[in-house]
Amino acid sequence: MKILVTGGAGFIGSHLCDHLLAQGHEVSAIDDLSTGSLDNIVHLHEKQGFTYVNDTILNKDRLELLIKDCDTIVHLAAAVGVKYVIENPLLSMEININGTENILKFANRYKKRVLVASTSEVYGKHLHAPLREDDNVIYGPPSTMRWSYAAAKLIDEFMAFSYHRTKKLDVVVFRCFNTIGPRQTGLYGMVVPRFIQQALRDEPITVFGDGQQTRTFTYVQDVVEAIYRLMSCERATGDVVNIGGTEEVTIIDLAERIKALCRSNSEIVFVPYEKAYGRDFEDMMRRVPSLEKLESLIDYSPNTPLDEILGKTIEYYRSKVT
Ligand code: UDP
Repeated sequence: MKILVTGGAGFIGSHLCDHLLAQGHEVSAIDDLSTGSLDNIVHLHEKQGFTYVNDTILNKDRLELLIKDCDTIVHLAAAVGVKYVIENPLLSMEININGTENILKFANRYKKRVLVASTSEVYGKHLHAPLREDDNVIYGPPSTMRWSYAAAKLIDEFMAFSYHRTKKLDVVVFRCFNTIGPRQTGLYGMVVPRFIQQALRDEPITVFGDGQQTRTFTYVQDVVEAIYRLMSCERATGDVVNIGGTEEVTIIDLAERIKALCRSNSEIVFVPYEKAYGRDFEDMMRRVPSLEKLESLIDYSPNTPLDEILGKTIEYYRSKVT
């Protein structure tokens, strides 16, 4: 099969390209390098079956040609990262809403199966666990820019399901829960690469708020395996499914684990949210996925232990940080 991966030079996208090529598929990747990096795909240069296009998914002419020419689309291109979205609110909305609309429109024109990446962020500020795909969403006011990301991704989901209902477009939506691993950058706010780089440099590890907020981190290879299985899972068509890990951890515990695994002399410091993100911010205090649906659909769920994922990610960063 020929698969189009949007955001193919990004963190998850580049790992997906590796996996698809290893399975013998042809891959074309499009990326505007806004948060992706050529470093992530440099090893695929001149690899048979791989083509890379440096462009935005807002370029409709280019996108149409790419979609016409593939069998299946995995749509990962998005403005991601709390820091990036807060600093680039308009651009983020344009990419995350108009970009996805372009993908769905051309996927429908050429009747191609499309998997749309969404995010655990769409659930908003729940305190219960686990989060099920049919849970309500709870957001703060639109004056708090953080919620724009969740709202944009929710629009993407509605658009995908509307195409499915009205045009019978073959769509699947998956919600990723804090994916981590090698190649993830800390430049746009993601906590794990930030903590690892701080620890390896013996700089202060910056825990925002009181560190009691929790996340369930998920290994990128597990996410890629789940996406791969969903690509051929007909029962998932027209549906939304969580992809996430199983180990809920507080951010202060995460900081301590990373410090220990890096054998770092860093001090762990608490930074008020306002200082970290300005007034435009409200954190989510808890985020744990229900994996019932994922398991029932693809007979698989992410299960790499957190310390093992952190070990692999630290190894990657050790080779980068001097
Ligand atoms: N966080 C932190 N220090 C940092 C970056 C993030 O304590 O240097 C916290 C952040 O406030 C949040 C958690 O780590 O509670 C996860 O943040 P991230 O931006 O990685 O993901 P998201 O908030 O989208 O889950």
